[in-house]
Amino acid sequence: MADSNAECNIKVLCRFRPLNQSEIIRGDKFIPVFQGDDTVIGKAYVFDQVFPAKASQEEVYNSCAKHIVKDVLGGYNGTIFAYGQTSSGKTHTMEGNLHDPQEMGIIPRIAEDIFDHIFAMDENLEFHIKVSYFEIYMDKIRDLLDVCSCVCFFEGCTERFVTCPEDVMDVIDEGKANRHVAVTNMNEHSSRSHSIFLINIKQENVETEQKLSGKLYLVDLAGSEKVSKTGAEGAVLDEAKNINKSLSALGNVISALAEGTKSHVPYRDSKMTRILQDSLGGNCRTTMFICCSPSSYNDTETKSTLMFGQRAK
Ligand code: ADP
Ligand code: MG
Repeated sequence: MADSNAECNIKVLCRFRPLNQSEIIRGDKFIPVFQGDDTVIGKAYVFDQVFPAKASQEEVYNSCAKHIVKDVLGGYNGTIFAYGQTSSGKTHTMEGNLHDPQEMGIIPRIAEDIFDHIFAMDENLEFHIKVSYFEIYMDKIRDLLDVCSCVCFFEGCTERFVTCPEDVMDVIDEGKANRHVAVTNMNEHSSRSHSIFLINIKQENVETEQKLSGKLYLVDLAGSEKVSKTGAEGAVLDEAKNINKSLSALGNVISALAEGTKSHVPYRDSKMTRILQDSLGGNCRTTMFICCSPSSYNDTETKSTLMFGQRAK
């Protein structure tokens, strides 16, 4: 499906989490000052929207992810990212609590919405929905739905047919359980790998035989924190360098797309940007959540996170 106008399809949204218990006990200050619903004061970082700590999961979803479901059902591709340092709220934003209607994040809400739309659509339309769940660690792909296999190409990842939102939740639970089994410290591991949930929707009008397909990548990125703070060395340092490299590659692609320098977008600089190539830029719907800690303790990281988001504007 082609868009005639070349409007910018990259949205950058900023979300601050509340101070957590240990930050409050330590006496950290709540730093960010907001102006209107799109600006964080300081160096004045302007986004498409800024969500203060009190914003609910539902508000976040309704104002920026909901419309993407309609677009994907209309044959567009899309990607939603969560970027930020470890513990800034990326997983809370993307997944949240999968089985709590209030605290569910974007992925489970999208799953529900897709099927709500489908049930309301023309009954001549036949849908085939497949999902995959994998992670990228040190530029290698791990299929979270088949941890025994080693896939070198993302095309080799398991695809599961889903017919209702519960099927989608089951797949996520299965992938998360697999991820837990293979690693000793889940929090550390998840902060060093990118996790990607892919929803692939194919539809066919059985009367006209017209076909349409769209896919949506939902990406919970590795933690963006700088190495120096953790005093890393050896394998940990290699991991950190790799994460840094893949996040910069992503930043470069997004900013090239945002600038409209269509002549060269450096998709080939990392495994992740190569995989996402057909779902970033152009007519694709791209949304980047910039997740931030409000704590004075994380001030430097927060500034660098805000800067990353600003590059995409
Ligand atoms: P990340 O995935 O970036 O490492 P998490 O999403 O796991 O961070 O968030 C760290 C902790 O903060 C979790 O316990 C999470 O539930 C909590 N948290 C994150 N964002 C929010 C929010 N907006 N409101 C309430 N709690 C949050
Ligand atoms: Mg996380």
